[in-house]
Amino acid sequence: MPTLRDSQYRAFARRELHRRQSGRCIYCSRELTKTGPTRMTIEHLKAKMKGGKDDLKNLAAACFHCNQLRGQQMNATKQRKEVKAVSARVSSPALRQDARDASAV
Ligand SMILES: [Zn+2]
Repeated sequence: MPTLRDSQYRAFARRELHRRQSGRCIYCSRELTKTGPTRMTIEHLKAKMKGGKDDLKNLAAACFHCNQLRGQQMNATKQRKEVKAVSARVSSPALRQDARDASAV
């Protein structure tokens, strides 16, 4: 299967997505432009990290603005997960003991 690393496939995918979405961003429906904050970017509906493919079925055209926003949201989700992991460690008995010791000082 071709991947987006292939410039020919990338060009094809951009053309196809642009056509499929009538040249509009999948999230905000703004018209995609060549440059600026609404310039077209290719978005993976299922993240590549999660096994998403460079298949047209998994791709969508999004403006740069929305693409950035989504990236930030994904980072926020990741951060929340990390916070959870940290608080799970903090609430382990050994660390609670440390905390008591620290507050006794
Ligand atoms: Zn958008």
